[in-house]
Amino acid sequence: MLRFASLGSGSKGNATLIESGNNDKDTRILLDCGFSTKEVENRLAKLGRTAQSITAIVITHEHSDHVSGAGRLSRKYNIPVWLTVGTSHACRDNDFHSTHYIDSHNDFEINDINLHPFPVPHDAREPCQFVFSDGASRLGIVTDLGYFTPHIIKHLNKLDSLLLECNYDEAMLLNGAYPQSLKRRVHGSKGHLDNKHASDLLKKLNVDKLKNIIGVHVSEKNNTEEYAINALCNGLGCEQSAVSLASQSEGFSWREQ
Ligand SMILES: [Zn+2]
Ligand SMILES: [Zn+2]
Repeated sequence: MLRFASLGSGSKGNATLIESGNNDKDTRILLDCGFSTKEVENRLAKLGRTAQSITAIVITHEHSDHVSGAGRLSRKYNIPVWLTVGTSHACRDNDFHSTHYIDSHNDFEINDINLHPFPVPHDAREPCQFVFSDGASRLGIVTDLGYFTPHIIKHLNKLDSLLLECNYDEAMLLNGAYPQSLKRRVHGSKGHLDNKHASDLLKKLNVDKLKNIIGVHVSEKNNTEEYAINALCNGLGCEQSAVSLASQSEGFSWREQ
């Protein structure tokens, strides 16, 4: 059984825990590490876990909200890091305890968890996102993408759980306080997914098995919880109680699938 939780999600930092197994035999993956070591330690404690127990850090891309704390955490606790060559070269701090390069088109395993990476349109060197599986169920995590392609939809079909970017409301972004250059970047095809496109993506998926849908990377300036939740409900044709959001300060607590 896969379990997962978020240490926090948004433009100030992202980190998600994915784990399998029981007690001593747990495999525990930290997907992205956009928080300081102290923050990671505190946030892990709230989830009942320690940094010593992390099996691996997997990095999606080099933006600081995903990687700023990865080097220090890896060195302090001797945690190996998995990432693409492009991401590694683009990281300011890539002096990891040890490094495993991944091919963003090929599956790989970390103990009993299978990771299925796929490339996404985003303004980073070699970004990828992942589907995690223990053989029985599948968890998709898509935090940063400018738009969705048929290839991405194919990978996200028939998931048991999906963490999906609901970054911004288009009108709030375009009428908001961001400078024009940043508006263009976020809104562009290699920027971030807005509520409407998150909703449209869900409408194209086979969601027969979907038990958990959680909106992630929700902008604190260019979105509201209500808008993001409505978009997810609209995409799935479900009640508000069936969807939830990851917050910047708390993430979300343990889910099972
Ligand atoms: Zn990014
Ligand atoms: Zn990000």
